[in-house]
Amino acid sequence: MDFKEHITVVEDYPKPGIRFKDITTLMQEGKVYKQAINEMAEFARKQNADVIVGPEARGFVVGCPIAYELEKGFVPVRKKGKLPRETIDADYGLEYGSDSLSIHKDAIKPGQRVIITDDLLATGGTVKATVKLVEELGGIVAGLAFMIELTYLEGRSGLDQYELFSLVDF
Ligand code: AMP
Repeated sequence: MDFKEHITVVEDYPKPGIRFKDITTLMQEGKVYKQAINEMAEFARKQNADVIVGPEARGFVVGCPIAYELEKGFVPVRKKGKLPRETIDADYGLEYGSDSLSIHKDAIKPGQRVIITDDLLATGGTVKATVKLVEELGGIVAGLAFMIELTYLEGRSGLDQYELFSLVDF
């Protein structure tokens, strides 16, 4: 299936020079959304995932249905201050300044095989912070799965030791 034709490229959003990849048009097509999730879930299944982890908010859009399909748990990674119980945090760089992501301290058991999912890999900052959180809790990062990879940003550099899957390249 050609997933690319269902993704809308929005010029100059959220600021000039950015070509925003809008997956909501793909999600509106039930069969296309399901097929995209099935292919990502197949990767997670092959990697023997025990649990799926996704950063807010679009990491939930892909991660939750993968977890449901595989009958595995889903663990949310959220911006600092949003999770109600004890967390560990990881800072990551943004274009200007930095931000912090959190995960519940008891969310991953040591030795569990974790698949990290998000809608899109850009610079890799978000996924690298998520990897750090998972590994700090003793999880094994069994794979990274994205709907979209912006290959020209070389987000996968520094992630060579992980299995990386993406459905669509730009
Ligand atoms: P990064 O941390 O640079 O890899 O950015 C990844 C996160 O930012 C993902 O969660 C995306 O949802 C979002 N993102 C970054 N660039 C874009 C883009 N061009 N279009 C849509 N979302 C993007």
